[in-house]
Amino acid sequence: MSSPKINLLGLPREQMEELFARWGEKPFRARQVMKWIYARGTSDFEQMTDLGKTLRARLAEEAEVRPPEIVSRHDSTDGTIKWALRAGSEQAIETVFIPEESRGTLCISSQVGCALDCSFCSTGAQGFNRNLDSAEIVGQVWLARRELGAGPSTTDRVISNVVLMGMGEPLANYRAVVPAIKVMLDDYGFELSRRRVTLSTSGLVPQINKLAVECNVALAVSLHAANDTLRDELVPINRRHPIAELLDACWAYAKLYANRHITFEYTMLEGVNDTVEHARQLARLLKNKPAKVNLIPFNPFPGTRYKRSPQATIDRFRQVLLDSGIITVTRRTRGDDIDAACGQLAGKVNDRTRVRLGSKMISVAVQNL
Ligand code: SAH
Ligand code: SF4
Repeated sequence: MSSPKINLLGLPREQMEELFARWGEKPFRARQVMKWIYARGTSDFEQMTDLGKTLRARLAEEAEVRPPEIVSRHDSTDGTIKWALRAGSEQAIETVFIPEESRGTLCISSQVGCALDCSFCSTGAQGFNRNLDSAEIVGQVWLARRELGAGPSTTDRVISNVVLMGMGEPLANYRAVVPAIKVMLDDYGFELSRRRVTLSTSGLVPQINKLAVECNVALAVSLHAANDTLRDELVPINRRHPIAELLDACWAYAKLYANRHITFEYTMLEGVNDTVEHARQLARLLKNKPAKVNLIPFNPFPGTRYKRSPQATIDRFRQVLLDSGIITVTRRTRGDDIDAACGQLAGKVNDRTRVRLGSKMISVAVQNL
């Protein structure tokens, strides 16, 4: 049953201030409450001791700080942690923490399932179920911070970066994702810099253009192919927004983003998109542009027809790009033992809406602009 209380989690600062104004409170009260929620991780209004008794009582009556419920937690031997969070009675989404030497990255989900049906993605294979709301998106960061804080407090347990690379297409859920990002960036929220929040998209061009102006965070684009024939097959949204249109939007985005690099993700699929000729095509598209490339070794999942390219093939592909002066890194696979890698965030979606490929599918995906 849904609660009648207002969930404060995920409300951007202006909306918090509006709420408090409606209650006849000063705007700084809203900011005080945000500090308690985000900087101190408090969900109990009684602990917010710098607020008056009357306000605390009103908050307890009319509002709440309600993150999604944790269903399970898996710790990998390499330090990666994966949480499954409840997103409905039969559904789960996944959040992954990846500690590295110089940073701690939290990979969060934006939808339950995904309608875009990329042929090599297990989230896509589930079909679309529903959009997460801002509280569920911000709640993933809030919960992970709380869980990490509960252990030994070392720097490798700090979330320094957030990537929207978990389940779902974040730009197909623009209305909830952008307010959630605003909370992540806010000085009274998680105080992350816009360079440390990365949104990954398969290429919804109108939403990329909108994001450029409204919430210019780091952008990663799932390219995976350097010609339209192949990309149409791997990333079907390409039929609506082909590569040339997508790249134009990327360069315009980079311009508004102080000409910082856009990351292009390229999943290496054996015998499909991994030849030297493919690398040359990609180099031609990205040469002398504000672009860097992230090569992702394909992560197989049950039922897939694809295979991961051998390391030597990935290295050869990378060398072609490096020779063209394009910064290229190969992403290390993390959390293999707990199925926490890219494209394996399958969750449990029992009530599947298998939305078939075609124009109808795409309208489902973009309805939330
Ligand atoms: N929907 C967004 C973000 C989530 S997917 C997007 O597509 O960008 C995050 C990244 O993982 C994308 O680059 C996606 O193409 C890649 N990916 C999906 N399935 C994968 C798999 N099985 N192996 C490796 N990478 C995969
Ligand atoms: Fe959706 Fe991204 Fe998977 Fe494509 S790769 S199906 S856009 S989650």
